[in-house]
Amino acid sequence: MAAPKIATATRIIPTSAHILYKEGHWQIRESIGKFIEREVNPYVKEWENNCLFPAHSLFRSLGQLGVFAVNKSIDCGGLGLDCSYSIAVAEEMGTVRCGSIPMAVAVQSDMATPALALYGSERLKAEFLRPTINGELVSCIAVSELHAGSDVSAIRTRAQKIGDDYVLNGTKTWITNGIQADWACVLASTSADPPHKNKSLFVVPLNSPGVHRSRVAHKLGMHSSDTATLFFENVRVPAHHLIGKEGKGFEYQMQQFQDERLVTIAVLLKPMERCVEMTREYTKERHVFGKPIYENQVVHYRLAELQTEIESLRALLYRAVLERMAGTDVTLLASMGKLKAGRLARAVTDQCLQYWGGVGYTWENEVTRLYRDLRLHSIGAGADEIMLSIISRMMDTK
Ligand SMILES: Cc1cc2nc3c(=O)[nH]c(=O)nc-3n(C[C@H](O)[C@H](O)[C@H](O)COP(=O)(O)OP(=O)(O)OC[C@H]3O[C@@H](n4cnc5c(N)ncnc54)[C@H](O)[C@@H]3O)c2cc1C
Repeated sequence: MAAPKIATATRIIPTSAHILYKEGHWQIRESIGKFIEREVNPYVKEWENNCLFPAHSLFRSLGQLGVFAVNKSIDCGGLGLDCSYSIAVAEEMGTVRCGSIPMAVAVQSDMATPALALYGSERLKAEFLRPTINGELVSCIAVSELHAGSDVSAIRTRAQKIGDDYVLNGTKTWITNGIQADWACVLASTSADPPHKNKSLFVVPLNSPGVHRSRVAHKLGMHSSDTATLFFENVRVPAHHLIGKEGKGFEYQMQQFQDERLVTIAVLLKPMERCVEMTREYTKERHVFGKPIYENQVVHYRLAELQTEIESLRALLYRAVLERMAGTDVTLLASMGKLKAGRLARAVTDQCLQYWGGVGYTWENEVTRLYRDLRLHSIGAGADEIMLSIISRMMDTK
């Protein structure tokens, strides 16, 4: 990829991408982008209609392209690159023409595996991280429960140490990749200590006796993503499946959330831009009252404003990434960006759908799919109100 620009079918828009991306980033993006155009986008409609994409075969191919390896160290099979490369991968994954697949990939690269990579034992990394980085295994992150989503500290799943094993009991829900995954990174309480000090993360193979799964049906969007409820009934895992130290799970999970939020912002940029671009093209062609809809000032001004907001969000993301690379805690910027990304995705898809009129209200329209899919991002990975509470708390402590 030669230049830091957004190339669309019809035109080139300069972006702030050169602030973050160098030749290596563009090379990775180019190979992923080509793969998506050839091997993913032609099948999106079929997978969306079937409510499932083939995670194992797709992840194997993406693994060969290094999608899961960029942010992992060389000693565990990764490419040992800095976090700007994860952002480049996530931004390019946004060229997939639905929200489900970028989300599933981000779960594997930036939600289920970072704590294992940082704190897991060599044995655990060899057994689970390496094959996950290769794309041979599919993973999921199992934190949320029916009564504990925003309030992670309220989870009820327990892991009790018995002999050389931990025995898990509890139910996790809303788990992305949960039907197809080979293993889950599970947050469970391991003691009666205070809620932020009594949790631990475990690698749980999902073919273990006592694991049952059922599919969460009829979601508003993200249709080709398999979302599961996972039941753990006296599930025994060997003690070495504990990630890092017992009682540190809440802390590790909060760290995983920070990268997850940056990646969520990156994944949303391209779909929002595509939405604006598709709407520009449509409204230029569609004539109402004798002229293209686009020629109404209210329409082209609004689309220009949305494009400007997307570019501002990109600048905020890149600043957060650069500061993170310099070793700064970017919780505040990541939370601001995640809040803005969720809200902007809603504004962009809602406004664009409006300009498509009745056609915007039909199921197969890509703008409509994005309207359904991207709505999740004000809820998942920390709802808007959770971001606001983090931001206001940090403003108070300045
Ligand atoms: C499609 C999908 C995929 C998901 N994938 C995963 C996954 O892979 N792994 C996983 O562990 N979880 C996953 N989740 C769960 C997701 O993280 C939770 O839905 C999210 O954290 C919100 O939790 P909740 O649904 O229990 O909502 P609740 O916690 O019940 O909150 C409901 C609403 O209340 C409001 N609210 C909450 N707290 C406050 C507050 N302090 N002040 C003001 N308002 C507040 C917010 O508007 C929030 O949306 C997924 C969810 C969905 C829908």
